[in-house]
Amino acid sequence: MKIKIHTQIIIAIILGVIAGLLLGENAKHVKILGDIFIRLLRMIIIPLILSSMVVGIVSIGNARNLGRIGLRTFVYYMVTTLLAVTVGLILVNIIRPGVGVELAAEGFDSSSHVPPSVVSVVTDIIPKNVFKSMAQDKVLSIIFISILFGVALSSIGEKGKQLISFFESFNSAMMKITDWIMKLAPVGVFALMAWTIGEMGLGVIKPLAKYMGTVVLGLLIHACVTLPVLLYVFGKYSPLKFIKHMFSAVATAFSTASSAATLPITMDCLEKKAGVSNKVASFVLPLGATVNMDGTALYEAVAAMFIAQAYGIDLSLWHQIIIMLTATLASIGAAAIPGAGLVTMVIVLKAVGLPLEGIGMILAVDRILDMCRTSVNVWGDSCGAAVIARLEGEEI
Ligand code: ASP
Repeated sequence: MKIKIHTQIIIAIILGVIAGLLLGENAKHVKILGDIFIRLLRMIIIPLILSSMVVGIVSIGNARNLGRIGLRTFVYYMVTTLLAVTVGLILVNIIRPGVGVELAAEGFDSSSHVPPSVVSVVTDIIPKNVFKSMAQDKVLSIIFISILFGVALSSIGEKGKQLISFFESFNSAMMKITDWIMKLAPVGVFALMAWTIGEMGLGVIKPLAKYMGTVVLGLLIHACVTLPVLLYVFGKYSPLKFIKHMFSAVATAFSTASSAATLPITMDCLEKKAGVSNKVASFVLPLGATVNMDGTALYEAVAAMFIAQAYGIDLSLWHQIIIMLTATLASIGAAAIPGAGLVTMVIVLKAVGLPLEGIGMILAVDRILDMCRTSVNVWGDSCGAAVIARLEGEEI
């Protein structure tokens, strides 16, 4: 009997948790299997984005259609991220997890965590050297080149045909490799779970339980209520059916804590299982993985408020609006790799004058919350792709 991939992954998560609890710190020895899995995924990100975006942009046809999809994507990303932050802020004001918490801040060196400025993030998109950008995994730059190249290829008519079919074959080969890597997902997921649980131990959770509970509750509301409602209303897609299709991607996001590493699997599930065209998926997903992070934004807002409450600092409504805006910006600036949200949180804390050392208080449980927020990030991108596909008139 063949067990479906998502059942295998659920079993891997459960076994990973058990192994982590039993092995404790010794679980670090199985981490190598998880590292191999992540490396394999990272290996194909850049060629996959390049080939699939060029093919996708060519099929979008002209700059006007591209502009329309781009605008819809941008609106969807902004609205959902702001909704996520709002849910987080409401919860943290009701639950007040930081009140009465007395915790020592441990080893966070804020001086070595300087987030990039918005201006540099924007100018950095244009590569000085295309190959250097590829070598440095600069996803936004690759997206920029791919769009430009795709539009150019489709506007030179006959002359572009050969390269277009080259990129089509290239893309099919990358998708095939993704399929193979996906077969290893259960092993990778098991190893990463065991390592995380073994390393963290359950001891650190207790004093921060209320804080973690607030973040997780907010993420659950966003993932199980807000996004499904949008998916159902605008995407006309059954949320239950959709999560079944996207499960492998969400579970991989959970174990790897990286939207970028998960991207090949997200694209595979969305195109092959959920039935979204490459045209939409190849545009919406790479962009989403890099800039649309609902989970991260929600987490950063809750964490900043938690730190304020723990330090006994009262933040006015105006301050909270600043938190809302900066958390949205900080999530856009966060790289799609583990722990990135923790780094860009410096932007939020600085904007409202909170002590950066506060980050040290929440360091110990960051990985587990990173896993949760990354799942929501990937789920948000996927729902967005389905909504945009429907708005573009696709029968999904
Ligand atoms: N790990 C997250 C992601 O890849 C970013 C973050 O740290 O919040 O989506």
